[in-house]
Amino acid sequence: MKNQEIPYKIYLDEQEMPKEWYNVRADMKQKPAPLLNPATLKPMTAEELRPVFCDELIQQELDDTTAYIPIPEDIRNFYKMYRPSPLVRAYCLEQKLQTPAKIYYKFEGNNTSGSHKLNSAIAQAYYAKHQGLKGVTTETGAGQWGTALSMACAYLELDCKVYMVKVSYEQKPFRREVMRTYGASVTPSPSNTTKVGQKILEQHPGTTGSLGCAISEAVEVATSNEGYRYVLGSVLNQVLLHQSIIGLESKIAMDKYGIKPDIIIGCAGGGSNLGGLISPFMGEKLRGEADYRFIAVEPASCPSFTRGKFAYDFCDTGMICPLAKMYTLGSGFIPSANHAGGLRFHGMSSILSQLYHDGFMEATAVEQTSVFEAAEQFARIEGILPAPESSHAIRVAIDEAMKCKETGEEKTILFGLTGTGYFDMVAYEKFHNGEMSDYIPTDEDLQVGFDGIPKFSGNEF
Ligand SMILES: *Cc1c(COP(=O)(O)O)cnc(C)c1O
Repeated sequence: MKNQEIPYKIYLDEQEMPKEWYNVRADMKQKPAPLLNPATLKPMTAEELRPVFCDELIQQELDDTTAYIPIPEDIRNFYKMYRPSPLVRAYCLEQKLQTPAKIYYKFEGNNTSGSHKLNSAIAQAYYAKHQGLKGVTTETGAGQWGTALSMACAYLELDCKVYMVKVSYEQKPFRREVMRTYGASVTPSPSNTTKVGQKILEQHPGTTGSLGCAISEAVEVATSNEGYRYVLGSVLNQVLLHQSIIGLESKIAMDKYGIKPDIIIGCAGGGSNLGGLISPFMGEKLRGEADYRFIAVEPASCPSFTRGKFAYDFCDTGMICPLAKMYTLGSGFIPSANHAGGLRFHGMSSILSQLYHDGFMEATAVEQTSVFEAAEQFARIEGILPAPESSHAIRVAIDEAMKCKETGEEKTILFGLTGTGYFDMVAYEKFHNGEMSDYIPTDEDLQVGFDGIPKFSGNEF
């Protein structure tokens, strides 16, 4: 099909939308390593996970073999309110860049929460409701995940308790009010409402909190209240499974027009949007049916893939969660102030970590100011004001398109545009005022984090 015949936006009809999620683990010869119980160093059993997570989600977390998992009808109906998300051919950007490359992006910011996180929030809330639970607890940093979960819980009439990192709670009052509009209770963390919160406040009076601390509070509330479970917005296998909707829709839409991407790019925080976007394409690569280049983009200030260790580590700073084998900077690693809040996690999805380790995927780290340059360029040309996280993918998509300009190659590039940046205007302001820093951690800085990775036989790195 000729270039011109491809529309600016490729949508799917309701009947064309995926009815199953795709579980890429089924096609991985080398499976991701299982979660370990930190006390016994044995794989976590479903029994051990039961007090924390919903039953059905535990099944999904531990299922390495079922390739396709049906999406319950209620979830599909919820998806229909804001999906399919548009797959856009960036004709305007291509023209401005004068590149022979063909650029596509899948835009996930088309819902009130403003990001892809709603795709998993609705699934997790659904299974909690289905199990007859009263509610769920979670943490949120910048607020995207908390907002998505509040929306999902409101729809299903489920109670939602969000522990929000105190500094964000104070600096992002609008995010907080969106969550309360959807009926969630939002508590600044650390708080006096939990034992772990009280302890942290005693030890560090005046602390503005951290994600790790908010996780510890949310888990305590879930496990000490009858009818509550804890839910998490990234990193876990189940979250990548739910996010496969992004890649499945992209693939169906591209197949309709006979488009085959050469390069697929996504930003990587905990790996859920990237994992979801690449899953069906990665499946083809793993089965030897097609070849693609996959590029994970991370901030140079939090370089889990490009400078981290592949080892078992804690997912939280409080060291109460199971150990996951992943590329990690150490659970004690504190990234320098960086405005892509969603990319500040010290670890990475076990699935993506294994795929990267086995050479199926590439990774690159980019500096903050160059990310905002790309964000602003994109906003002015394509109209969408991108989230700082998403702009990491834009940076590398533009760089790859410019390489095509040099070589004359007509490559097809697909990237994930995960969300909008309306709540990130303080970051844009810093950029415009020339006050944005590009701090890159030194090897010595990173060593401090690596020293905190648990040491046991079999966990050499
Ligand atoms: C949370 C978030 C991310 C990063 O999370 P992943 O799990 O790596 O996808 C990226 N973009 C936006 C807009 C986010 O809210």
